[in-house]
Amino acid sequence: TYHTVLEENRELYNQVQDLKAGSIRVYCRVRPFLSGQTNVQSTVDYIGENGNLMIVHPHKPGKDARKVFNFNKVFATSCTQEQIYDDTQPLIRSVLDGYNVCIFAYGQTGSGKTYTMSGPDLNTEETWGVNYRALRDLFQITKKRADVIKYQVGVQMIEIYNEQVRDLLVYIRNNSQLNGLNVPDASLIRVSSTQDVLDLMRIGHRNRAVGATALNERSSRSHSILTVHVYGKELISGSVLKGCLHLVDLAGSERVDKSEAVGERLKEAQHINRSLSALGDVIYALAQKSQHVPYRNSKLTQVLQDSLGGHAKTLMFVHINPDVNAIGETISTLKFAERVASIELGAAKANK
Ligand code: ADP
Repeated sequence: TYHTVLEENRELYNQVQDLKAGSIRVYCRVRPFLSGQTNVQSTVDYIGENGNLMIVHPHKPGKDARKVFNFNKVFATSCTQEQIYDDTQPLIRSVLDGYNVCIFAYGQTGSGKTYTMSGPDLNTEETWGVNYRALRDLFQITKKRADVIKYQVGVQMIEIYNEQVRDLLVYIRNNSQLNGLNVPDASLIRVSSTQDVLDLMRIGHRNRAVGATALNERSSRSHSILTVHVYGKELISGSVLKGCLHLVDLAGSERVDKSEAVGERLKEAQHINRSLSALGDVIYALAQKSQHVPYRNSKLTQVLQDSLGGHAKTLMFVHINPDVNAIGETISTLKFAERVASIELGAAKANK
């Protein structure tokens, strides 16, 4: 058994390590019940070791009640932020080797996207999410390599709301609204420590709240993208490498009841639906190696164009709220994610 465990670990490590340029991994994370949610029935029936997740539908009879979904990996409710990040770490290294990497958090509002990406509390390192851990590692590795490669690191933070791109680090410049697609124009701030990044994130969060009735409401209906640009110069050869990491907290994927949503809310919902399906379509087209990849169907896919497909590596964390009352959204989230994952997993047939 010792050897089996060792082998399994090695295989897992290789899997992540081997995430080849142009490929995608999909991980599913199940949020725990929150304090106060006692005696709530869970929709998650079973989590297998090979990335399987069995969902049980409370209102369907017999064998129709259970459905299995397949991902590269499923993280149970007990998984810590550190365990979640462990699998992500090799990707961070590859940014410093000159790859473009996209890490997405997908799921309905309240399913744990922000928890995974940022964590519940900036001031507590132990619960830091992927964003801070990634940057902490990035700086550590650049220091280790300092005798060989001289790196410069710059950060951008933008928000996409109703198909408008907004620069969240506007304190340097005053063009809060970027027209069209001038994302390269979003303030690019040079950083050299995790503390610099923490300071910028605070400013970004503050700017995000401006004009929003409540930050939570606004943030659930916009995509937020933290982009880290890395520029490295090899000291001996003088050769240059460029890598880029996009950390994307997507808008809540919940469908809005058409009969209830009106005005502004309806518009927001339509924009979100359109951009999330555009993202799904792009990833699907890339996985299928289609001739035409429909990047231009949304701002989100346009902004990320250079980092999806080709030389890039993509990781999507799909989030599940285990509450039975969320079953409808849970199923549609899992279907979306399985579509994204299906080809890489060799399960394309299941998709038909
Ligand atoms: P989203 O960004 O998808 O809207 P949040 O990340 O804000 O969701 O999570 C909703 C609530 O659940 C928050 O109170 C958050 O702290 C809590 N939560 C989410 N995931 C976890 C987790 N893995 N462990 C503990 N609490 C979590």
